[in-house]
Amino acid sequence: MSKNDAPQNRMRVSFDLDEVLFVLPETHKTEPELIFPLNKIFRERLRLGTPKLINRMQELGFDVWVYTSSFRSESYIKWLFRFYGIRFNGIVNGTRHLKEVQRNNKTTLPQKLPNRYRISLHIDDESIVCSLGRQYGYRAYQLEAQDDDWAEKIIARAEEIRTLEAETYQN
Ligand SMILES: [Mg+2]
Repeated sequence: MSKNDAPQNRMRVSFDLDEVLFVLPETHKTEPELIFPLNKIFRERLRLGTPKLINRMQELGFDVWVYTSSFRSESYIKWLFRFYGIRFNGIVNGTRHLKEVQRNNKTTLPQKLPNRYRISLHIDDESIVCSLGRQYGYRAYQLEAQDDDWAEKIIARAEEIRTLEAETYQN
């Protein structure tokens, strides 16, 4: 087992759902829908390459999480992705965020705070989520439009951050 594979050392990367992993076939290339009747229960369409990317990242020693501000239940998210052969290492939905991050803070915190979950890189379509990273101390990658090279770009960015963090911890 290499250093990166030790569970406590695995870097966490999270993905937003809407407009990131869930996209519309009208505007993005998508994975085939699930077979009937699953496609009637799970109507979201996955961005093309999602299962391959998530599985690849886990093979590369990353823990992959979902961080969504939507209120889809954890089990709905878990099962939808499981039918595509994906098992996330963690799921944060709107309910969990309110309970564990926002809690009874008097000021309204940003809709996502990936660093509260020790997530080193979060992928999101919203400029506000990405730009607040600097202020609140998390790293984000903005992904929105169809991009045939999204998987390679995200892996490259994640590897870059892993190297950076390894150097930081050594010093
Ligand atoms: Mg989104």
